[in-house]
Amino acid sequence: MNDNYYDALELSLNDWQILFADWGEPKFRAGQVCQWIYAKKVFNYHDMSNLSKDLRVKLSENVLMTLPVLIRQQTSRDGTKKYLWQMNDGVRVESVLLNHGGHRTACISSQAGCPLGCMFCETGANGFTRNLTRGEILGQFLMMEKLNGGDINNIVFMGMGEPLLNEAAVFSAIRSLNDKSMRNLGARHITISTSGIVPGIEDLADFEIPIRLSLSLHAANDALRNKLMPVNKQYPLQKLTAALRHYRERTGERITIEYALIDRVNDAVEYAYELGALLDGLQPYVNLIPYNAIPSRPELRRSSDGRVKEFCGALSELKIEYELRKERGGDIAAACGQLAGGK
Ligand code: SAH
Ligand code: SF4
Repeated sequence: MNDNYYDALELSLNDWQILFADWGEPKFRAGQVCQWIYAKKVFNYHDMSNLSKDLRVKLSENVLMTLPVLIRQQTSRDGTKKYLWQMNDGVRVESVLLNHGGHRTACISSQAGCPLGCMFCETGANGFTRNLTRGEILGQFLMMEKLNGGDINNIVFMGMGEPLLNEAAVFSAIRSLNDKSMRNLGARHITISTSGIVPGIEDLADFEIPIRLSLSLHAANDALRNKLMPVNKQYPLQKLTAALRHYRERTGERITIEYALIDRVNDAVEYAYELGALLDGLQPYVNLIPYNAIPSRPELRRSSDGRVKEFCGALSELKIEYELRKERGGDIAAACGQLAGGK
């Protein structure tokens, strides 16, 4: 690639304004171009009809429009869609589009692979390739909107990778999604899910856009969590919960706790009581996810209905608000933890 080129999705609104100022164009051109790209999903400069012919040519000669290339699309029996994308350098990632009664949620990848190697996650089992850029993150979302026609209502950073290990790109993408002159997606419609990167949670507490936070917990004591999620050795539960409490106090936001029930691994009733004690005072929403089978861990199984019921019973007794999630997209390996980037 020629270093003198810019790349459209890598540019923030401010970058566009600087570029147009350099070209002697008025500042509002930045908003016009961003409306085409982010609101109308028009990716060809020649179709941007409120710009002069000369400017369209200048844009096409100087600002690349690099988008993820669709390699494969699969549709689940329940309507969930999975997309395999290829980035400029050949790296491949997946995204998922969920449809809940007309509301659409895009589940986006923030990294190609993941360095954290959680025991139950196929993304982790396949290792880490690299961080995605802000443009590659935005590109997944915009391409899904383009392919499906119309707006997608929510975006969740729950695809491949750990978003808080790629904070600069993820935060920059979120700013553009939220910006009124770009995609104008409300803060309440954007969620980051993290395995518990404490400095990232602290940064989120100070982030100017009040997006939602989900924490993948899966175990409420250090011994078990160290085994399931090695990241816990770096950020053990005491530090993690301190960061969550700080986030809760600073933002006033309630946190969602993700807990996948794995048969006889983390689904004993005593663990539900531990969870209650650990999160005391935090008023979390708990999402109980059915564990999804992955090829690299044939020995792990989903909890039986009986064990799920007992676990739920304990949470109810503790007056913890919880929801039992349904599996989505399992038949096309699009459910939580199953994304492997086409591998
Ligand atoms: N790295 C971030 C973002 C990925 S989100 C994080 O871990 O939070 C993917 C979600 O699916 C996380 O809540 C993760 O814990 C969960 N998950 C991973 N493997 C799973 C599996 N096999 N079954 C169910 N949920 C799983
Ligand atoms: Fe990475 Fe999240 Fe998978 Fe753990 S669960 S390996 S942090 S993507």
